[in-house]
Amino acid sequence: MFDLCVVGAGLAGSAAAKHASKFSRVCLVGPDEPNKKCSPDPNRDIYGGHYDEGRIYMQSTSDPVWAKLAQRSIPRYTDIEVESGIDIASEVGCLMIGNRGEDYITAVKDVAKKDRIGAKVLSGTAARSLFPFLSIPEDDEVVFEAQLAGYISPRRLVKAQITIAKKNGCQHVQEVARGISRVVRGDTDMVMEVTTDSGRRILAKKVLVATGAFTAFRNLLGNGVSPDTKLYPLAVTKLEISEEDAKKIRTMPSILYFGRGGKDWTQDFPVDPRTPVVFYMLPPIRYPDGKYYIKLGHSHDSIPKLLHTRQQMKQWFDHGPDARLTRQMADMILSVVQDIKVLSYHGDSCVVDVAPSNRPYIDKIHDQMGIAIGGNGYAAKSSDEIGRLAVELLMNGKWDIELPRSLFHVKLKSGYGTSCSKL
Ligand SMILES: Cc1cc2nc3c(=O)[nH]c(=O)nc-3n(C[C@H](O)[C@H](O)[C@H](O)COP(=O)(O)OP(=O)(O)OC[C@H]3O[C@@H](n4cnc5c(N)ncnc54)[C@H](O)[C@@H]3O)c2cc1C
Repeated sequence: MFDLCVVGAGLAGSAAAKHASKFSRVCLVGPDEPNKKCSPDPNRDIYGGHYDEGRIYMQSTSDPVWAKLAQRSIPRYTDIEVESGIDIASEVGCLMIGNRGEDYITAVKDVAKKDRIGAKVLSGTAARSLFPFLSIPEDDEVVFEAQLAGYISPRRLVKAQITIAKKNGCQHVQEVARGISRVVRGDTDMVMEVTTDSGRRILAKKVLVATGAFTAFRNLLGNGVSPDTKLYPLAVTKLEISEEDAKKIRTMPSILYFGRGGKDWTQDFPVDPRTPVVFYMLPPIRYPDGKYYIKLGHSHDSIPKLLHTRQQMKQWFDHGPDARLTRQMADMILSVVQDIKVLSYHGDSCVVDVAPSNRPYIDKIHDQMGIAIGGNGYAAKSSDEIGRLAVELLMNGKWDIELPRSLFHVKLKSGYGTSCSKL
């Protein structure tokens, strides 16, 4: 019997397995990334949010809680790289850009100042002179983090965490968990039983559910019980450029934009004219196919299209965004990054699980079951700390971060829209 079974081998789950395996016998249950080169597998309906090479990291964000989680995780990237032998981070820096004086950029500046992040506050004009190949609106304000900021490969981070966990004796079962239940063993002992889709049964003293956006689609939290999260389909466009162009703009940092946009930027972007233009962009990254892609993503189009069922999730992961949305995002990349030649572009899809609080759920369902989900689209950079906090709480009853535990309490629902208290 294991001390802990972590269900979900994604960013939070692999981090949790690593941390718990330092002091206990751990089993990690979760499937690998599907091979997208093959046509969609008709039997596969569970996916993850880590099937990519680029997730932005930086220490100051507009939300001080997410900032704290990031500040705890990011300095540990080097240890993860050394312990696993796998590179995960590219410290290219991060630009956070917004309309001067408005809420987003003011909140970022406040966090950077309060948490003493070594960030520079620049005018749009000054930022443009640092990165002349970027069309940064001159009137905007920019927070530039040059150190401990850039992008990580979520794929490689998961691989690195699992490598370390396995070195510590963790067993990885690459299967989907069908159900979790509490069973009686002997006369009085209650243990947790995880059953996989293939019928395998795994016994553990405790279970941590880290199944991200797919938590509701198996019987993990109890009959008909699901987390109170909304599932947003996120579209991205990856625009291919030549190695030569990638070298030409090699100093390009990651970008988060929240503002009115540049006067010369494309106007054909799916945004309500009353709301700001919001997107994130990653610098050229070499993908496993050997090609360089600049990636842009946003959520403007996802709000009216929330996903509710397993079939909708599968359809979105298998088929991705429509061609028009993909082209609009490619045009936005070309509005911002100047003088690059497009070789090709394509769309990709992902789903984020968003809690009403916009913060992750890191909590106990009961004494033998913990939960670490609700990435809200921000959790990749902070997943090491999220996994660690969940393990400390469930296994050792400790909460050792200077943020109130109540911020992370889980909300469950039975069926759609009906709130219910913890089991
Ligand atoms: C397009 C996009 C861009 C993003 N950009 C950023 C960014 O720039 N910076 C950032 O910090 N974050 C970013 N994020 C968010 C980040 O990727 C997610 O918050 C993060 O992946 C959440 O981690 P997780 O472990 O909760 O879920 P996941 O990474 O999705 O992992 C969940 C795992 O559980 C597995 N699973 C599910 N159900 C079962 C089951 N029944 N049995 C076994 N296993 C199961 C899944 O297969 C998966 O491997 C982005 C997300 C998307 C979609």
